[in-house]
Parts: sequence; structure tokens; C-alpha cells
Amino acid sequence: MRKAGALLRQVFNEFEKHIAPGITTAELDKKAEKLIRDAGARPAFLGYNGFPATLCTSINEQVVHGIPNRRALKEGDIVSVDCGLVLGGFFADTAKTYPVGRISAEAEALLKATEESLYVGIEEMKVGNRLGDLSAAIQDHIEARGFAIVRDYTGHGIGRAMHEAPQVPNYGTRGDGRRMEVGLVLAIEPMVNVGTWKTRTLDDDWTVVTADGSLSAHFEHTIAVTADGPLILTA
Ligand code: MG
Ligand code: MG
Repeated sequence: MRKAGALLRQVFNEFEKHIAPGITTAELDKKAEKLIRDAGARPAFLGYNGFPATLCTSINEQVVHGIPNRRALKEGDIVSVDCGLVLGGFFADTAKTYPVGRISAEAEALLKATEESLYVGIEEMKVGNRLGDLSAAIQDHIEARGFAIVRDYTGHGIGRAMHEAPQVPNYGTRGDGRRMEVGLVLAIEPMVNVGTWKTRTLDDDWTVVTADGSLSAHFEHTIAVTADGPLILTA
């Protein structure tokens, strides 16, 4: 899982250099697919329940599961890029929301709070803590900043499959849920909206958008619980 995670980070480090006004999400997708295949791995999203691409690319009010297409990014957009791969039978999954050129102060604040909340959640991945501790920490961080945490989608266990038990909600109550033990690997992925937490799905049956059209951001890492604390495999 370390190898899968490290490779996925390398893939992001390469394709993210190209994120700028004018590039299309389909072009980013092709670059990511080539990087993954050239390294001897396989894109995990391509073909997953019929998903047609290597990346999920979700722009502005799109929350998750956007399909790469001929839409060009433009100055001021934010684009969430989510990608999974499988290497040697093990999965890795990570996501990041990027600014395209100069973005609004509101968008900056959203990206900052969402990324921070991911790390706040990761800090809770300690032996003996419960899943609810992690969920509550993320929710508290986001709501204290006036944003809303999406409830319709969650993080997940990950290993020999992309989505394993347990579900990892980004909202909850301290003390609830299972205890964490050494070897547990989770994909934590807060999705955060400026307005309502509610979402709806577009007619393509994939793209999830905020119900009120407000901006949304998404950050994700694959993390293992070790005796020494959390180990971010996709860092
Ligand atoms: Mg993901
Ligand atoms: Mg995930």
C-alpha cells in the first residue's frame, strides 16, 4: 500500500503542473492515465460501476464524480481532482482541489478549511480512538468556519479493494463507532460546501453538485494507523 500510495502522489505531482486556464479536464485525464499505466499500475476508477475515466474532475459547484470532458478550465475556477489506482493488488485513493489562476477570497478560504479538516481528521487516527472522534473533529473544524460538510458521501476503508468497510463519515459524535487498531487503513475525504450541505446528481448520473450552486471542495488521503500514529500513504 505504501508503493501504491507513493505512485499515486507522483502521478498527481506530474499532472498538476498542467492545471492552468485553457487545459481541458479530458487532457488532464489522459495525462494521468498514461502516467499510471507507464508505471505498471491500473487506474482504479476507469470502469468502476461504468465510470468512463481515470480522474474525477469536479469544477466549482461540482462536489465529486465529475466526468472529464472538453470543458477548459478558466481563471478563477476551482477544480477537485480525485484519482485511485491499483498496484500489485493494493489500492490508493487521493484527491485535491486546485485553484485555477487567481481565485476569490471565499474560494481560498474554502480550500484552506477543507484541506485543514483532512489533517485534523488524520490526527485522530490513533490506536484506541474511535471513528466518531475523527468524524466529529472534521465536522467541528468545518462548521466553526461557517462552511457545511457534505453528508451524502463518506470516506472508506481501503486495501485490496477501493471501497472497504468501514464507512468514514465526515460528521459524527466523539466516542461513537469502532476503535482504531494498528493496520487499519482509511481513505478520509472531507467534501465541503460554502452553502448548504445538500447535494443533487446531474442527468449524467455521476456528477454531484451542491443543491444551492455554491462552491465545493474535496481533499483526500489514504492513511494507515501504525503504533507510532497515522502514516499518510499518499503523501
Ligand atoms: Mg478518491
Ligand atoms: Mg475515496
